[in-house]
Amino acid sequence: MLYKNWLYTSSIIKTSNCPALKENISTECLIIGGGIAGLHAALRLVNEGKKVVLLEKTICGGSSSGQSAGFLTPQSEEDMSKLIAKHGKDKAKIIHQIPSVGVDLILNNIKKYKFDCDLRKQDSLYLSIKKSHDYKILEEKETCKEMNVPYKMLNQNGLKKYHPGKGYSLGLIYPGTHGINSFAYCQAMKNLLMKKGVKIYEGTEVKKIEKNKAITHLGSAESKNIIVCIDKLNAEFDKSWSKKCYHIQTYIGISEPLSDKEMKSVFPNGELMCWDTKWDYAYYRPVIGNRLLVGASSPWTAYYPKYHFTNKVVLKEINSLKEKFPQIKNINFSHYWSGLIDITKDMSPIVDYDENNKSIQFVMGCAGLNWAAYCGDYAARRILNKNTPDLSEFLGANRKFSFSGIFQLIFGKRISFMLSHLKELLT
Ligand SMILES: Cc1cc2nc3c(=O)[nH]c(=O)nc-3n(C[C@H](O)[C@H](O)[C@H](O)COP(=O)(O)OP(=O)(O)OC[C@H]3O[C@@H](n4cnc5c(N)ncnc54)[C@H](O)[C@@H]3O)c2cc1C
Repeated sequence: MLYKNWLYTSSIIKTSNCPALKENISTECLIIGGGIAGLHAALRLVNEGKKVVLLEKTICGGSSSGQSAGFLTPQSEEDMSKLIAKHGKDKAKIIHQIPSVGVDLILNNIKKYKFDCDLRKQDSLYLSIKKSHDYKILEEKETCKEMNVPYKMLNQNGLKKYHPGKGYSLGLIYPGTHGINSFAYCQAMKNLLMKKGVKIYEGTEVKKIEKNKAITHLGSAESKNIIVCIDKLNAEFDKSWSKKCYHIQTYIGISEPLSDKEMKSVFPNGELMCWDTKWDYAYYRPVIGNRLLVGASSPWTAYYPKYHFTNKVVLKEINSLKEKFPQIKNINFSHYWSGLIDITKDMSPIVDYDENNKSIQFVMGCAGLNWAAYCGDYAARRILNKNTPDLSEFLGANRKFSFSGIFQLIFGKRISFMLSHLKELLT
């Protein structure tokens, strides 16, 4: 297995080279970071007639956004009743709909601008790996009910028709979900933005922001409206903001092409986006060229501070899938890669102004393509003053996070984020 992001190497999108920034410029709006969040912020602003510059450290989609498995699901993980208790009915409704609005933003772009990014309508199948996990499926069923999503419960007999693997005890299938090649999406967004007049500089790392000026190695960009959408924000960039996010490590593997017969033996009733009930859940779906994309993570490496180049975690999941579907036991998996998903302590993103300079907004910890699309767009709407509800209780940087302050100072980011996530999972 080759350690390489197959989404990059297989991308069919042709984009122009955007040279690095080597001069001092100024602009009406400046976006730092060309992931889904930054690209969506730029699109909203340029569509409203603003002059926009985007600075990207590597290439657009060069980090999480271009490494992802491309699952697009509008389901909200937030329980509506809890949201109402915390934020009141009106805001709870907006917050609950964020994942779904984020998916719509992405799908609308793909359809409107005819992006070629392997968009696939793939219903979701959530699979219980053992009887004692069935309650998780029943909980997900309640979410479907709450969101008025039609669903079907599948017992072992019912599963045979959709996904006849060995050993699953219960399944829940529902529509409204899609898969995309997220790297191709980012590159298509980049092309579109350039056509609309956005100036994009790739290979351009912003070292820090001084007043309203983003400083790079060979130049600078000045603006009264700055949106920072970068990942792995470090203390050299900004000490205080760097404390607010950590990451979770996850791995993806991609198979060689399956024959139609092999694919049909796994998905006899059409392709599906599957994931299971393990804490560090495994997930898989078919992608372009009849290949299978498999994703996995492990509690042992989830909080590892750097990119981890082992193929052990994803291989374990691939082997477990092959045990469930012996008909694909001889399929090779050609590529694998790891990725670090930025995440806050309560797992909801942050979109907020810098306390010392209100012309700078930070968008951080968007764990999901749809969340990133929404948050980038939301930050841009705040600049435009358009339909922007005040979501500071939910997205604000100063909301209360567990295991922060002195605790984080003594025990470090890794431990404090681990404990905080554990607390979130258990409550
Ligand atoms: C392996 C993996 C699988 C995933 N699968 C899914 C999935 O199936 N579905 C889903 O919804 N989500 C998935 N995610 C999560 C999703 O990809 C992210 O939540 C989302 O892409 C975050 O987007 P973003 O724009 O906030 O951040 P990023 O995509 O990380 O963008 C940040 C950008 O900022 C740039 N940057 C960083 N520092 C600087 C600097 N100093 N100057 C200039 N630029 C800088 C980076 O190069 C990067 O391009 C997955 C993530 C990973 C890693």
